[in-house]
Amino acid sequence: MIIDAHVHLPIGKDCDILCRKREKLLQELARNHIDGCIVISDSCMESDIGNLNECVELFRESVNVNVVGGISPYFEFQTQLRKIRNYLDEKLVVGIKLYTGHEAFYLSDERLKDVYELAQQYDVPVLFHSGWDNYQYSDVNVAAEVARQYPNLKLVCCHCFFPRIDKCQSLVKYSNVYFDISSIADNMAILNDIEEKIKKLIEAAPKRVLFGSDYSGCNQEEHIQFVKNLKLNARLTEAVFAGNAKRVFRLE
Ligand SMILES: [Zn+2]
Repeated sequence: MIIDAHVHLPIGKDCDILCRKREKLLQELARNHIDGCIVISDSCMESDIGNLNECVELFRESVNVNVVGGISPYFEFQTQLRKIRNYLDEKLVVGIKLYTGHEAFYLSDERLKDVYELAQQYDVPVLFHSGWDNYQYSDVNVAAEVARQYPNLKLVCCHCFFPRIDKCQSLVKYSNVYFDISSIADNMAILNDIEEKIKKLIEAAPKRVLFGSDYSGCNQEEHIQFVKNLKLNARLTEAVFAGNAKRVFRLE
């Protein structure tokens, strides 16, 4: 079984309207023999990957596609927070995403207190963007601070600080921090190095590493192959491909 714990609605000229985006995503899942996925909405109102409402409505009836709602202190924060609370009540979202780095705010920003408390109250994870440019907004020291401050909050570090995967190791000691490997298989030139570091991370935190691809920005098939190339034993393969995501997002 495979659950892709990090995808977005596809963009491009053959999926210009929402229902086609949905169609194309479902086709991609089928093509790669993926059983379920988590679609992450954007934090702003106008987006090619869909806003919170759009993603929730598109997959309201889907049993195998769940939604994580993006939120930002910059875009209708209180309104969006209220909406997320309502969707959590209806079980239509399974987590909250913060685009730290894409947007200029720190993971430790005081304004996020409401987000963290809401996530704790509903026992859903908060996902955050890490790595690349502007990585300082959610760098290890900042993430560690939040993990310590909210020990009952589940945090998912998206992209494992790519390309500095080794940074994850210093967060392993916080049992409330999880890691999703989305987008890390995208650069062939450094793939061997990344493979080795992810293997080490899985050894250190076997129940807290999740499969994700960052489709459609990144290639789903290449990410599946990446995990297969790690040659993990059956138990670990199942945990990374599906079991860990099911547990952290409490999927039924
Ligand atoms: Zn993403």
